[in-house]
Amino acid sequence: MHSLGLEYHDVVAGDEFDSSGFPGAASASYKLSERDFAAHLDAIAATGVPVSRVDRMASVDSHTTPVFLTFDDGGVGALRQTAPLLEARAWVGHFFVVSDRIGTAGFLDAGGIRELHRHGHLVGSHSCSHPLRFSGLTMREMVREWRDSRAMLEDILHAEVTTASVPGGYYRTPAAEAAAEAGYRTLFTSEPMTRVRLVCECLVLGRYSIRRGDAPALASALVVGHGAARGRQWAIWNAKKVLKAAGGNVYLAVRDVIFERAHRHAH
Ligand SMILES: [Zn+2]
Repeated sequence: MHSLGLEYHDVVAGDEFDSSGFPGAASASYKLSERDFAAHLDAIAATGVPVSRVDRMASVDSHTTPVFLTFDDGGVGALRQTAPLLEARAWVGHFFVVSDRIGTAGFLDAGGIRELHRHGHLVGSHSCSHPLRFSGLTMREMVREWRDSRAMLEDILHAEVTTASVPGGYYRTPAAEAAAEAGYRTLFTSEPMTRVRLVCECLVLGRYSIRRGDAPALASALVVGHGAARGRQWAIWNAKKVLKAAGGNVYLAVRDVIFERAHRHAH
């Protein structure tokens, strides 16, 4: 079984990148303006490939590759910008919320989360505290992150929450084992792969990350699997993995240095 997940973050008005989600230059590099995001949706629509909701995958036969649009962090842009653009096409998104941030500056409150759910979008967990090295936590800590965030979202939604996405990009199998133990049935990672795996009755789905400045044509190429788009992300991912294996802190430090430098140059 295969699936194609695109991993977006916040969509914001103009260039107000700190208005939604986590502030700062590193986070902003994952956020798109409303205009750029609309262009991505146009490009995806032009492929003619249907956009699906993961908990309705049973209706998809195993010879197709369902496409999922996912949005991490639960910033206020989800309701202001992202959802209206999806709904204009009758598409649904998967929104993953950091439960400790609910109702804080730049993040959705309980009412906003309920509204997304009411509009037919899938709301899932993106952990409680958004650890950047989630897979570096102990099993007990991972289960707590998944279980407490799930309980909080179910309290808000009065509905079952069985889907999550791993924060921070760094994934190892125990993160899915912990998710399964906490009652999740589907876990999105940030590994750029289409092959769906099963870990303790939890489906594990990869995602291809979209960043600010990525062309709309990249989104459509990833969706249809044309050219080298998927392979290129896979190669970059594996190069980064070497750094991550050497110590996630090294990876995070290098990443921060790169973004700070890029930020300085922009001013
Ligand atoms: Zn995140």
